[in-house]
Amino acid sequence: MPTAHPPAVSATLREVGLRDGLQSVTTIVGTADKCRWVDAAHAAGVREIEVGSMVPARLLPQLADTEAVLQHALRLPGLVASVLVPNLKGAQRALAAGAHAMIVPLSASHAHSLANLRKTPDEVVAEVARIRAARDASGNRAGSRTIIEGGVGTAFGCTLQGEVPEAEVLRLLQALLDAGADRVSLADTVGHADPARVSRLFDKALHRVGDRLRYAHFHDTRGMGLANAYAAWQAGVRGFDACLGGIGGCPHAPGASGNVATEDLAYMLERMGAHTGVQVPALLQLRRQLQQWLPGEPLHGSLWQAGVIRTRTEPAPAPNTAAACL
Ligand code: ZN
Repeated sequence: MPTAHPPAVSATLREVGLRDGLQSVTTIVGTADKCRWVDAAHAAGVREIEVGSMVPARLLPQLADTEAVLQHALRLPGLVASVLVPNLKGAQRALAAGAHAMIVPLSASHAHSLANLRKTPDEVVAEVARIRAARDASGNRAGSRTIIEGGVGTAFGCTLQGEVPEAEVLRLLQALLDAGADRVSLADTVGHADPARVSRLFDKALHRVGDRLRYAHFHDTRGMGLANAYAAWQAGVRGFDACLGGIGGCPHAPGASGNVATEDLAYMLERMGAHTGVQVPALLQLRRQLQQWLPGEPLHGSLWQAGVIRTRTEPAPAPNTAAACL
């Protein structure tokens, strides 16, 4: 009797390049090109895209057109369009625009929280409760309501504070859910995570809140992005944030790579037998386009250099006779 193959486990990739990536580069990508990016990512099989941030345009002029890009993304079939909202005001804009999901960032490091959000982590939790009340009062019906996600950043360490205790991260995950968040995520905002720590924290967090912990968000600041994603995958997380071309950088390390590259992560997961629904060659094509939208901006990642490993049935590219590769 032939052995049946077990069904492939699905993984969800959320493209965050239009938010996390573009907020850290100085080049302003025009609205039409952002919409082309969303279209091409959707055509490549990406089904979740964080299209921008509901912050005042004077703070992040790169993301001033978030509403316009969101309206475009909301028209694409099967696409979950999310935005980052730093506070109630941003949430009200996201609700008015009909975003599918809004991500409220919280920094588990008190020092980072005060420096970046000018609030303590518990003040952010209180803001999530107000956002939940606003969502419930807005008439968002069940089924079409805007999902509230609490994104716990600096969960693995912080440039300002150093160590961030695991117990504090776990407490804040629970507090966000208790305050009304529908789901939560864990982010290595400044590249302090390592696979052992990721494994330990995700194990504990999943044990505590189950599948309401939906996304892992890794930066490749110190080259451990994919290893960290693998550790989170092994722990049981099935959703991952990533940036096309690994853009984004790190405010504390000029020139450092940004988020783990979407194309590299999709390729790794597919090679491992997971089903992402993403066509990796189409992402590589889109990466080339991105370089034209961001002239002079360094892109990162590895896959673009060697390309995907082809199966025997696929035609090989024409050999480069100018150089031998042994
Ligand atoms: Zn990030």
